Formats: sequence, C-alpha cells, structure tokens
Amino acid sequence: KDSSLVVCFGEMLIDFVPTISGLSLADAPAFKKAPGGAPANVAVGIARLGGSSAFIGKVGEDEFGYMLADILKENNVNNEGMRFDPGARTALAFVTLRNDGEREFMFYRNPSADMLLQENELDFDLIRKAAIFHYGSISLITEPSKSAHIAAAKAAKDAGVILSYDPNLRLPLWPTAESAREGILSIWDTADIIKINEEEISFLTQGEDPYDDAVVRKLFHPNLKLLLVTEGPHGCRYYTQEFSGRVKGFKVEAVDTTGAGDAFVAGTLAQLASDLSLLQDEDRLRDVFKFANVCGALTVTERGAIPALPTKEAVLDAILK
Ligand code: ADP
Repeated sequence: KDSSLVVCFGEMLIDFVPTISGLSLADAPAFKKAPGGAPANVAVGIARLGGSSAFIGKVGEDEFGYMLADILKENNVNNEGMRFDPGARTALAFVTLRNDGEREFMFYRNPSADMLLQENELDFDLIRKAAIFHYGSISLITEPSKSAHIAAAKAAKDAGVILSYDPNLRLPLWPTAESAREGILSIWDTADIIKINEEEISFLTQGEDPYDDAVVRKLFHPNLKLLLVTEGPHGCRYYTQEFSGRVKGFKVEAVDTTGAGDAFVAGTLAQLASDLSLLQDEDRLRDVFKFANVCGALTVTERGAIPALPTKEAVLDAILK
C-alpha cells in the first residue's frame, strides 16, 4: 500500500470558459480552454496541496486528450491509469458564467471517451494501493463506464481502501431526474465519505428541510464515516455517526465557482489520506474543514477549475492573513 495515495476515478475534460462573464454562450466573444472534470480536479487539487494522487479515466486520442495527460503530469498526478480511445473524442464542456460567478454547462458527450472506459482497461493494482478511492456519478450514467466504475469501486473496497463519493449532480446529463436519483443512490451505501452540495441535498431529500438534522440523518447508512454538505460561500456542514457541526466559509470575491467543491474535497482528502484517525477527533476535523473551505474559496477567485486550484502555501497564507 502507498500509505497516503488518493486515486480519483472518472471524467476529465476541457472546460471552455468565456473571457467575459454575464453573456450567453452565443454572445461570448472568446473562450479560454481550462482543464477540468470533477475527479481530475480533485486529483490535481491534492497534488497542489503536496499530497499524492493518481487519476484513472479515459480521454480521446486527440489534441485535448494529450493536453490533459500532460496537465496531470505537470501537476505531479500519476496518470498511468489514464487510457486513450482512438475512436472517441475527449469530453468538452462549454461554460456560461453569470456575473456572480455561478455557471451553467453545455456538454459534448456523443459519446465522449470517458463514457467508453471499460473494466478490462482498469489498473487494478493502482486502485488497490490507494488509501482513498474517490469518484463521482457521471461514469454511472451509461455503459461501459458504469460497469468499469462498479468494478473499480469493488476492487477498492475489497482491498480495504476508503471510498469517497461526490455525486456531482449534472441533471441534464441523466435521461430523467428519477434516473439521476436512482443512479446517485445506487452506490450510496458503499461509500465511507460522501460530499454533497446544497443543490444535491435538496434533490435527495425531496422537499424535506435539508437543514433538519433528522432529515440529513436519513441519508446516513451504517458504514458512513463522514457526510459533508458544502454551502458555497457559507462553508460546510459535517456529520459523522457521533457528532455534527458547521464550519463557516472564507470570504472572497467570486469570479468563477467552477471547481470549488472539488477543491474542498481535495483539501479534505489530502489530509485524511495521511491520517484517517482525524475522523474520530472533532476538533482536528474542524481544522481540516477550515482548510478545505479556504481551498474552495481561493478556487472561486479565478476562472476555470484546475488553473484555479491553490497550493498549500497559498492556503496557509490566506488563513494567516
Ligand atoms: P460545489 O462546487 O460542489 O457546488 P460549493 O459551491 O458548496 O460546492 O462550494 C464548495 C466549497 O467551496 C464551499 O464549502 C466553500 O468552502 C467554498 N466556496 C464556494 N463558493 C464560495 C464563495 N463564493 N466564497 C467563498 N467560498 C466559497
């Protein structure tokens, strides 16, 4: 086992981010290419923080795919588990930025290479070596990536790896809202750590008060060690089997919120991977979330996901200021 390795599984893509906020996609005068894709963001986020991470997923054998593989390497993310599909293209996302930094996405997935990852392409040795295996739910939408996802998570679980799940709801990508809910919940009970945002908790609790402890507790399963609910600028709430609480956010001027949740996850997992006993100690865990909130906050101050992920020095500087 590589004692603090976090292996991130799923999509990696290019976000086309408009150079000017507040315009529709058609009116944007120009776009900047920014690498992204939630699990890849987490992998790079951890490496920027000085942690050890790897990415497993598939891109197209095209200009974008090679660019993404290089970006992982430049950021010290192990990309040996990355695959290239000669017959499919890398996923692309076109982002519309509102003036408050919130965004909407349009995807090229027709199907994109990430959706075509197969079980026999997985690097199981890498998965079994990890301290934490992190994944989203987009790979569950269609086959063959769904079977690959399930096989990878099972291999991790069987090897005693901690499973971390961020469903990363992108409702328009699912055939129906019901299929999204079922898909997201289908792997809920195998995760040790789950991170959701406000939109996801509302979606999953279906009209019940998402701030009511009893409602949140219904999302618990017996093996869940940590449930995190991020609340944008307000920070996060945390729930374990023993305790729960809230850690307030770090104040910044938001430019582009893309990648905030992933930066938060990276900040959390980078620390948990090297010391899982943090999960038992509420005071130390609160410090982890304070750090993770700053990771998320710094990420929203710049356009794009991966380009905006902070280094450990930047986070510590911001905390001390
Ligand atoms: P997601 O990106 O998954 O929707 P959130 O928007 O809840 O997740 O953001 C994740 C974390 O990033 C928050 O918990 C917070 O720490 C930080 N964050 C996000 N938006 C802001 C903001 N506008 N100002 C400060 N921190 C933010």
